[in-house]
Amino acid sequence: MTLDSTWVRAWIERTAEVLTTERHTLSELDRQIGDGDHGENLARGFAAVRERIGQTPDDATPATLVKLVATTLISTVGGAAGPLLGTAYLKGAAALGDASELDARAVVALLTAARDGVVLRGKAETGDKTMVDAWTPAVDAAAAAAGSGAPPADVLRAAADAAAEGAAATEPLVARKGRASYLGDRAIGHRDPGAQSSSLIITAAADTAAGSNKES
Ligand code: ADP
Ligand code: MG
Repeated sequence: MTLDSTWVRAWIERTAEVLTTERHTLSELDRQIGDGDHGENLARGFAAVRERIGQTPDDATPATLVKLVATTLISTVGGAAGPLLGTAYLKGAAALGDASELDARAVVALLTAARDGVVLRGKAETGDKTMVDAWTPAVDAAAAAAGSGAPPADVLRAAADAAAEGAAATEPLVARKGRASYLGDRAIGHRDPGAQSSSLIITAAADTAAGSNKES
């Protein structure tokens, strides 16, 4: 099974669908500990991404497509999440280079670069109750899976499962970055919206990779 540019397109398409479906849930999470715009921000951003991806030539490489996600999110999404996720996709695109297919190591490189991009931009550490708390467990699980010889789709599934757990594990935390940090202890008991949306993005990657697996 190959994770090629067709897969990247499917991943982006699925991400746009899921973030549109989940926009109210994500904004509701953000209403609890932020300003309630997270779902709208991302749904709007990925609607723009979807439109622009549809205009790219058929032979666009995975990196070109991922970079287009980055520049679109940076230019269309207000708030913290646009630049943060934009930087994640930008660094992820750089890690892909000119490869036409991703093997397990490339998947780990993509996720690692994305996480490093979020950290570079936002300076959050693990446990600060941010999207980093989804990305870092995903990177660690992906590296472990790839290290034990798992194929790329299974590496993504391991990452997605860990991201979902990481997002859930933000609930008892106090936030140390972003708007939620103004709340102190009142953030306890609420899931971080950015960790949740990052988990959805990584799950969309795993779901579409599994789909292409069945077809091949
Ligand atoms: P805003 O907070 O500007 O309204 P969003 O609601 O779109 O932006 O995004 C909020 C999310 O951004 C938070 O749930 C958190 O995951 C993430 N976030 C905020 N600041 C940081 C940061 N410094 N590092 C990583 N993630 C952050
Ligand atoms: Mg917000």
